[in-house]
Amino acid sequence: MNTSRPIRARIAPLAIRHNYRLAKQHAPHSRAWAVIKANAYGHGQWRAVDALRDVADGFAMLECENAVALREAGITQPILLLEGIFSARDARAVVEHRLTTVVHCLEQLELLVRNGQFSAPVAVCLKLNTGMNRLGFTAQTLPKALDILRQLPVDITLMTHFAEADGERGVAWQMERFRAIAGDWSGPVSLGNSAAILRHPEAHGDWVRPGIMLYGASPFAEQSAAELGLQSVMTLESAIIGVQELAPGERVGYGGTFTAERPMRIGVVACGYADGYPRHAPTGTPIAVMGRRTRTVGRVSMDMLACDLTDIPEAGIGAPVTLWGKGVAGEVPADEVAAAAGTIAYELFCAVAPRVPVVLDLPAEGGR
Ligand SMILES: *Cc1c(COP(=O)(O)O)cnc(C)c1O
Repeated sequence: MNTSRPIRARIAPLAIRHNYRLAKQHAPHSRAWAVIKANAYGHGQWRAVDALRDVADGFAMLECENAVALREAGITQPILLLEGIFSARDARAVVEHRLTTVVHCLEQLELLVRNGQFSAPVAVCLKLNTGMNRLGFTAQTLPKALDILRQLPVDITLMTHFAEADGERGVAWQMERFRAIAGDWSGPVSLGNSAAILRHPEAHGDWVRPGIMLYGASPFAEQSAAELGLQSVMTLESAIIGVQELAPGERVGYGGTFTAERPMRIGVVACGYADGYPRHAPTGTPIAVMGRRTRTVGRVSMDMLACDLTDIPEAGIGAPVTLWGKGVAGEVPADEVAAAAGTIAYELFCAVAPRVPVVLDLPAEGGR
């Protein structure tokens, strides 16, 4: 529902396509699962699917029901279940709808074998635990899984997930463990997430799995999305709905955590933590008003936050605000807001609340 309250999340589908193509340019010898889990990182599963349906090699997500919905909507590419199956019904759906499923432990393999019926060949990604220590087979458990699977009509890919592809420790140590567990495996492998796609060409494999980069945020703390050539996809925007002139010593917001040290003009923005803006964002978090960058002041409330308009005298009630992204009010990378709030853009995107109306940001017709 498009309410008149001015907050909006604008989504640019063409930027998702651009970012997917950039992933493919970095991994020219791999196919790429477009990761659309968590409602496409808060961007809307169907928006991402529509943006990529004619370019993506495959889609990767969590819930079997959502994967089946993609099939029913005519998606013919491979669809990967990143955590595999959770029930007998999932096992049957995997076979019936030709889904590719992760299998990460023997219990899950048994669930698949017992219920899958295998009337048709099934594509399985066997997940190896190479150091993340969440999911996956080890050198001890993998042989048994392979023994079971080799008696069935399955296409097997070995897969692993990197814990520190964005950091100093990198991927070499996990690659080494992968080789040690996989032994003489010569079949297909699926390795790289966004960070590995962008930084570790040796750690791509036959299938890469780009997630965050599709949505225009950087997987790295010290390298910006723009430096990586990524285009911003989501813009969270709103407007100034109140203006206050503060005398020195006046405080702002709950807890009075910000005190004006000089005469100040502040703007109140229709956006709060109930919209998904991080409550932990401290005074000084970047925000843009009428094309100028400024800072938030005081605590974020449920429905409002305050920003410093002292040096933007032209901004009054109704002035457009960019909370993050690239909008009419200016550009504020989501990564910068996230860093200020002690989190990552992944979390900001996923947290955008259902009450925020979403509008598609499409290029103007005609292209004059
Ligand atoms: C979420 C996820 C990805 C995508 O990771 P990004 O850092 O967003 O690129 C890749 N692989 C697996 C198994 C995942 O769960």
